[in-house]
Amino acid sequence: MNCAKKVWETNAWRPRQCQRAAVEGGYCKQHGPAAAAARRRKMDDRVRRDMAAIDRRVKKTQALQDLVSACRLSRDVLPVGVTAALEAYEALGL
Ligand SMILES: [Zn+2]
Repeated sequence: MNCAKKVWETNAWRPRQCQRAAVEGGYCKQHGPAAAAARRRKMDDRVRRDMAAIDRRVKKTQALQDLVSACRLSRDVLPVGVTAALEAYEALGL
């Protein structure tokens, strides 16, 4: 018996039945519920990791903007090197 999953091939007009042998509850190894759940978990984990990385970058950018703002407010008492770095940053026009 073949796997019960309907699969789409590139540019196909309609789905066709998966041609692999059914080994797990009427589905092949790839389309079985356990394999599908594992893939979904893996994808969810990846999305969570990517979202966490974006969140860290947003927080880092916000912290840098706060630092630049603080430097601008106390520009007249900054050490020369910090003033130069601030001017270099502002020259970027960000
Ligand atoms: Zn299948």
